[in-house]
Amino acid sequence: MAINTIGVIGAGQMGSGIAQVCALAGLDVLINDVSADKIDAGLAAVDAALVKQIERGAIDEAARAAAKARIKATPDLADMGGCDLVIEAASENEEVKRKIFTLLRAYVKPEVYLASNTSSISITRLASATDRPERFIGIHFMNPVARMQLVELIRGIATENETFEAAKELVTRLGKSYTVSEDFPAFIVNRILLPMINEAIYTLYEGVGSVEAIDAAMRLGANHPMGPLQLADFIGLDTVLSVMQVLHEGLADSKYRPCPLLVKYVEAGWLGRKTQRGFYDYRSGTPVPTR
Ligand code: NAD
Repeated sequence: MAINTIGVIGAGQMGSGIAQVCALAGLDVLINDVSADKIDAGLAAVDAALVKQIERGAIDEAARAAAKARIKATPDLADMGGCDLVIEAASENEEVKRKIFTLLRAYVKPEVYLASNTSSISITRLASATDRPERFIGIHFMNPVARMQLVELIRGIATENETFEAAKELVTRLGKSYTVSEDFPAFIVNRILLPMINEAIYTLYEGVGSVEAIDAAMRLGANHPMGPLQLADFIGLDTVLSVMQVLHEGLADSKYRPCPLLVKYVEAGWLGRKTQRGFYDYRSGTPVPTR
């Protein structure tokens, strides 16, 4: 079945980015979030990102206007009935995601494909919250969606070939590349990346280095484009913590224990860039380390 209309659930940094790239590729997009405010913020993020793409020379004004016109928003999951694929990009919380897929059962058409953009949660488990696990797949975009080349594809135990082929075709249509990962906690990219970030937070927690020293060390000493604490703020510290918890519980190995300092930042609501404060304070416009 051809994919022409995509439903995106969650209008945060990833949902808005997915809406942006899909609309630019000519797909009709219907985006949803929990409140009108969140939807407005997501649409404003798409607008801002499209303007940035024009400034970089990546797209022209006609492409921006056409993409914008293809994105519609709804506060109601019942409107997802016309979608060929629904991608869930809500907060990294299994209960939240399961509830969305359970509710969707009543509204989506029988031949719909369902996907999650989860960074870490089992695709097989999420698929079990639907009535069509064979049409369910993990489509894991990277952040920022418009800039990053990779999409990880993750098949659950029941995912049929047709669903896998449709996901591959979509990734190609979006001009991106895919890798295939087995359905293990945090898949490939985050299985490797997130323990590194967690270790950077332990390095800070134990006083081995300051925020600036740790980030400079990895930027200049390992040639990473961003320091690990800067990257953690960019991902969102709530997402970083959730992924570490999934790794810790799913692999039952103490080497994945989330750093207590990470837990403290999340408890404070200092979630990184999205709340203006994390390992850096962004409120003045220039990032200032918070430790
Ligand atoms: P975010 O906090 O920016 O956005 C999450 C959005 O989901 C919020 O707007 C929230 O209101 C919404 N939401 C929560 N419950 C909902 C519900 N029941 N129905 C509809 N919307 C709901 O988070 P994000 O960074 O966009 O992450 C979203 C997903 O993408 C997570 O699964 C995350 O693991 C994954 N992901 C994140 C990154 C990253 O770098 N941040 C990268 C790849 C994948």
